[in-house]
Amino acid sequence: MKNILVVGGAGYIGSHCVKMLKERGYNPVVYDNLSKGHRAAVRGIKFEKGDLGDKKKLARVFKKHDIEAVMHFAAFIEVGESVKEPARYYNNNIVKVISLLDAMVENGIKYFVFSSTAATFGEPVEPKISEAHPQNPINPYGQSKLMVEKVLKDYDKAYGLKSSVLRYFNAAGADDGGKIGESHTPETHLLPIILQAAAGKRESIKIFGTDYPTKDGSCVRDFVHVNDLSSAHILALEKMARSGESDDFNLGSGEGFTVKEVIESAKRVTGRDFKVETAARRAGDPAVLVADSAKAKRVLGWETLYNLDKIIKTAWRWEQKRRY
Ligand code: UDP
Repeated sequence: MKNILVVGGAGYIGSHCVKMLKERGYNPVVYDNLSKGHRAAVRGIKFEKGDLGDKKKLARVFKKHDIEAVMHFAAFIEVGESVKEPARYYNNNIVKVISLLDAMVENGIKYFVFSSTAATFGEPVEPKISEAHPQNPINPYGQSKLMVEKVLKDYDKAYGLKSSVLRYFNAAGADDGGKIGESHTPETHLLPIILQAAAGKRESIKIFGTDYPTKDGSCVRDFVHVNDLSSAHILALEKMARSGESDDFNLGSGEGFTVKEVIESAKRVTGRDFKVETAARRAGDPAVLVADSAKAKRVLGWETLYNLDKIIKTAWRWEQKRRY
C-alpha cells in the first residue's frame, strides 16, 4: 500500500504526517479546501484542492491517484467554538465525514485512519485514560468525533470498511527542520499562544480557570509532539493493512502538566519573561486529560521521542521563523 489520500493534509497535524509518509517511501496525495490549511505546508507534494463533502470530486481523485487508504485530518477542532456553534461542528465533523466514507465504500477503498480526540471521553473517571475508559463527551467537538467512531463500527460490520481510530491528547510542537509548524487563525491553542507572548507578539497569556481540582488550580493536559502523532498514524495504517482489522488507540505521552507548569517551562526554555493573567474557565474544558497509551506501545510498537521541553523547543523555533 503506497498511495494515501490525506484529507486535511495541509493542516497542522496532516502536513507533518504527509512529510513523514513521503520520507518513509509512501506516495501521499493531499486533499484540502485550504479553509484552514496552508498550501505552503505541503510544497512538493501532490495536491488536490477540494471539499470534504464533495463526493464526486473525491471519486475522481481516488481514481486519478489509485488511492488505497485515506487518512482524515480535516476537522473543526476548537472546544470553546464548538459550544457556541455546534451546527458547524456537526456538519463538518459528522455529515461531511459520512459523505467521505460513502465515497470510499462506493470506490472500494477499505482503509481509513481517523483523527479522533481525548475530548470523546469527557470528565475522566480514572487518572489515566485508556481505550476502555467510558466515553461521555462534554462538548460538541467531542460529541462529533465520538459519533463518527460509532459510524465507523457500523461501516466495518456492514461494508467491511476498516478503520484505525487515533485519539489525540494535546498535539503540540513543530517539525525539527523548522519549515512546517502550527498556524491557526485566530490561534486558540495554549502553547502557540504562550510562545507568541514570549516572542512579544501578544501582550499576555490568560490562564482559563484557576479553581480546578488540580495541584495548582489550572487544567492538566498531556502534550504529545506532532511527529510522534505522525509516526503513530503510519504504524496504525501498516498494522491495519497487515491484520485487516479495525482498532483504536489513545495517543499521549502519559504525563500531565498544568497550564501553569507549561507557562513556566516555556519561560525557562525560551529564556523570555512575559505577562500572565488569570481568567474565567473556558466552557467545555475538563479539569484533567492524561492518556494511558500502553496499547499503542504494545500493539503498534509506538514510542514517543519528544518530552515537553523538546516540544516547546521545536515550537519556539517555528514561532520565531514561521513561514505561514
Ligand atoms: N488555555 C489557557 N489559555 C489559553 C488557551 C488555552 O489557559 O489562552 C487552556 C485551556 O483552557 C485548556 C488547555 O489550556 O485547559 C489546553 O487548551 P487547548 O485549546 O490548547 O487544547 P484543548 O485541550 O482544548 O484540546
